Amino acid sequence: MLDPWRSRYAARTDGMIASEVRALFAVAARPEVVSLAGGMPNVAALPLETVSAVMADLVLQQGTVALQYGSAQGVRSLRESICDVMALEGITAAPDDVVVTSGSQQALDLVARIFLDPGDTVVTEAPTYVTAINTFAAYQARIAHVPMDGDGVVPEALADAFARLHAQGRAPKLFYTVPTFQNPAGVTLSAARRHQVLEVCRRAGVLILEDNPYGLLRYDGEPVRALRADAARGHDVVYLGSFSKTFAAGLRVGWALAPAAVRDKLVLAAESAILSQSPFTQLAVDRYLRTEPWPDQIKVFREMYRERRDAMLDALTAHMPPGVTWTTPAGGFFVWATLPDGLDAKAMLPRATGARVAYVPGAGFFADGSGRTNMRLSFCYPPPERIREGVRRLGDVIAGEIAL
Ligand code: PMP
Repeated sequence: MLDPWRSRYAARTDGMIASEVRALFAVAARPEVVSLAGGMPNVAALPLETVSAVMADLVLQQGTVALQYGSAQGVRSLRESICDVMALEGITAAPDDVVVTSGSQQALDLVARIFLDPGDTVVTEAPTYVTAINTFAAYQARIAHVPMDGDGVVPEALADAFARLHAQGRAPKLFYTVPTFQNPAGVTLSAARRHQVLEVCRRAGVLILEDNPYGLLRYDGEPVRALRADAARGHDVVYLGSFSKTFAAGLRVGWALAPAAVRDKLVLAAESAILSQSPFTQLAVDRYLRTEPWPDQIKVFREMYRERRDAMLDALTAHMPPGVTWTTPAGGFFVWATLPDGLDAKAMLPRATGARVAYVPGAGFFADGSGRTNMRLSFCYPPPERIREGVRRLGDVIAGEIAL
């Protein structure tokens, strides 16, 4: 059907493209398919009766606040709780500097809205979170990628990219990074490199946008401090957090911690976007954090996801043909696999779904068309035995491709 309004859309809609991940959901949702595609947290591990009681109490005891408009910055008591959560990753912050958002996704959008003009450049890791690429594209920004290795983004490459862009008159506005248990690569920026990255960005005058939804889901190794925790000046970093993975994605509660001037702009942007965050979901999260043993629930999540990660890594070792490599994440939801040269993960996907296994082809996680031999494998959602079966099917499909 012809769209009669086609010529009327704003130019920025050209940058709004369908996410490959979302397009996959229909196939991956078929019960016979093992989905290693979506990054959906396993909310079935939540104590649903407890959550229900928290919400019922909220309505009965604070209903007139919970069901009324609130502020665009968010409920103060939740912002206090959020500061306690951030302290677990070394961050000292004041509730006044926190803006509650509808998931950290909205915080990403608001940051892009207040910083990016068409043609501006954002530097990101390669690969990076697909919806961040799409968000920056929707504001008509250009993306410059910087490579990672097993220790996260390479600081020297980051400095080179800043210098090159500067020389081209394209001084970057932001460095967007997921430093811990990265989506999609599963790697974590080492402690030593964190200081280097902070220094490289400080010297180049580039604001860091640190996106950290997975930091508390560590399965082994020593915790690392958030970049924001060690920034020489708090105003060098805008930090994004989320309750989607540590509590409930469906409540859509995340936040930004920002320097005061940036915070003020974020609040104004939030006001025009949504008038008020939902007091109901904010108070529900706050009540849950304050009245329930939340650290115990995080332990439950960690143990469950660790078992799933181990199932995936063991199955990869058992079933992948020679020439396939993958990362070993110490936390989060994702393994990043690389096929032998010449194979194309996107072209292979129909064969994989035909064999009843789904993954996300790597190309969507790059803005520059690379990533053809890569795939993201999520271990968060299917139970361990399904993960093993899915990886076994995938190994057969890949072996078939190599034999072609
Ligand atoms: N950033 C990253 C790196 C993510 O993986 C996600 C969720 N997939 C988000 C942000 C958005 O999460 P939410 O809006 O649910 O907080």
